[in-house]
Amino acid sequence: MNMPRSLLEEVMTVSLRRGILYPSAEIYGGLAGFYDFGPIGTRIRNNLIHLWKTQFVEARDYVYEISGNTILPSQVFKASGHLDHFTDPSAECSKGHVTRIDQLIEELLKIPAEGKSNDELANLVMEHKIRCPVCGEPLRGVKSFGLMFGTNVGGDRRQAFLRPETAQNIFLGFKRVQTAMRAKLPFGVAQIGRSYRNEISPRQSIVRVREFNQMEIEYFIDPRSLNECPFFDMVSNVSINLVTREEQNKAAEKSSTDYSSTQLTVKEAFEKQFVPNQWMASILGDEMIFFQQLGIPAEIIRFRHMRPEETPHYSGGNFDLEIQFSFGWKEVIGNAYRRDHDLQSHMKGSQKELSIEVEGEKITPHVVEPSFGIDRILYAILEHTYRPKDKSRGWSWFQFPPNLAPYHAVILPLLNRPELEEVAKEIYEKSRKMGLAVLYDDRGRIGRRYARADEIGIPKAVTIDPQTLDDDTATIRNRDSASQTRHSLKKIPSFLHPSKQK
Ligand code: ATP
Repeated sequence: MNMPRSLLEEVMTVSLRRGILYPSAEIYGGLAGFYDFGPIGTRIRNNLIHLWKTQFVEARDYVYEISGNTILPSQVFKASGHLDHFTDPSAECSKGHVTRIDQLIEELLKIPAEGKSNDELANLVMEHKIRCPVCGEPLRGVKSFGLMFGTNVGGDRRQAFLRPETAQNIFLGFKRVQTAMRAKLPFGVAQIGRSYRNEISPRQSIVRVREFNQMEIEYFIDPRSLNECPFFDMVSNVSINLVTREEQNKAAEKSSTDYSSTQLTVKEAFEKQFVPNQWMASILGDEMIFFQQLGIPAEIIRFRHMRPEETPHYSGGNFDLEIQFSFGWKEVIGNAYRRDHDLQSHMKGSQKELSIEVEGEKITPHVVEPSFGIDRILYAILEHTYRPKDKSRGWSWFQFPPNLAPYHAVILPLLNRPELEEVAKEIYEKSRKMGLAVLYDDRGRIGRRYARADEIGIPKAVTIDPQTLDDDTATIRNRDSASQTRHSLKKIPSFLHPSKQK
């Protein structure tokens, strides 16, 4: 009997077939937890990054973007605490399979396990006789597994590490950016780039991988002005779903991780002190505005106030943006009020001054950090915009919002006739000159070509047919409704612009 395929399997089948993403070094069998983005995935990813930059960097004259290296000397991570503390709990079976045990416990027992001590986890393993998910053998003991990837640099083989987050470059370059840009508090430093973690159990496509991409901002704030966020008024009426610690405690009493959330505005979240300061409240609202553009419904987005055991001791409050996937709720953005921990740690580690003078007073800025995972957000978009084939359409497709779609339109000459191809090429070139991303496809039956375009979520298909030669019109097929309307050739490129599409 054929088992029904999971949504993840369906999404991955189309993604592999259509060059969205595929395992790295696939022809050699690859390595778990590494994926490449193909031509279509790269375009979607670039669009996502563009949307992010437009909202969070370009629209704010106090946010500066940097681009730092991924290999950094070991002292950086000694000072940041990653070398000593950046671990996940693991358990091994007699056959040598190593598993991330807190997550396995959460899945099997449906109780929160992240942040529990190794002893507590080991007790749960024994009590519930939890076995290896790969081979079914009993699991033995629980150990901390370091997530840092190490390497050696140069002839003297100096020890270095691949960064596990983009944030550290921002703290290291803080003083340089501040002086070069003559930046006054508050200001933000943003970075988009790769991060590396030797995850114990990579899985769920690009949701948990060992090399991934982040978009992070460190907002440096005068600790006396944490309740004066410059964009608060812009977001204060935005509605957010918040899972409070109280709600999580209530659920824990019932041994459940099924949390309900409270819907409130950013202003209410701040005024009722659900969040530590106005900056944090504003960031959550800003993220909701960003997510409105991604095709992910607001009802399946929530902010969870992390429990104390999931939060580092220096944190003034962490609020993860979680999305409901087919396999459960998962963090896609970590929001953390880090106080002055990072700058203080690097001052201690490097013996360099990272405080700044504000009106004659020495200040170590406090930091509020939103940390977006590009890959997880991309997978969320794939899952939530995926439409399986049905009676009306014999193929599956993606309903990407127009500004995320890999192309704005595909241009299709109906038949292989030079006079049709000539007009199609003209429209194609004219659209490109107008800055539109268009694809030209003249191969195969027209139905197949519509299917191929739908499968990579192209919102519009322009078909040049024999009638075009008579009356200078062509059809535009709408991906979502599959309906076709005729338009004059002159007007077609402007109709393809994303601002003209839903
Ligand atoms: P998790 O608890 O799921 O491992 P985390 O709390 O360690 O995540 P953060 O350190 O807060 O994650 O990282 C910020 C963001 O970076 C996450 O919200 C996620 O989107 C992304 N991210 C972190 N680890 C990975 C990974 N292994 N693969 C893909 N994305 C990741």
